[in-house]
Amino acid sequence: MTAMTLMLDQGYAPVKVIPWQRAIQLLFLGKVEVVEEYDRDVRSTHLVIKIPAVVRLLRAFRRHKKPVKFSRVNIYGRDNYACQYCGVQRPIVELTYDHVVPRAQGGTTTWTNIVTACARCNEWKGNRTPKQAGMRLRKEPVQPRDVPALVIEVSRENAPAAWRDYMWWTSELEQG
Ligand SMILES: [Zn+2]
Repeated sequence: MTAMTLMLDQGYAPVKVIPWQRAIQLLFLGKVEVVEEYDRDVRSTHLVIKIPAVVRLLRAFRRHKKPVKFSRVNIYGRDNYACQYCGVQRPIVELTYDHVVPRAQGGTTTWTNIVTACARCNEWKGNRTPKQAGMRLRKEPVQPRDVPALVIEVSRENAPAAWRDYMWWTSELEQG
């Protein structure tokens, strides 16, 4: 059986996906509570329990001090899924990333030179700096220390039904 369990932090924000066996281990260690169950039992010699679909950590979750991965989705997350030029929030599929100082002018592909941009602003800006294009950044891009709720690389379509209520960060996006 390969069912996976979605782990939430105390505030019901998704943390990660773990094998259900691990979820049961954490349950017996008193570290999590079960929020949603699958309609499937596991049996051991002494008891029968439902496989946890969603569990919630009972104590504050301490993230590892790993740097946030420099990826498209984490850039969008840092920028709150909003174009950094016109400020409009868009679904992921309509977002692009923009080199603030274009590569042609020596700009680097780094946290501090990449921002989220909608296709329209990106096209308008072209190979120009914001100043040359008469555009203004909403905020200076920085290296994020932490991007919560984006560690999970599961698309909403693939997610078990029991997870849906807890995947609010993607549901919100898809409405847009
Ligand atoms: Zn825009």
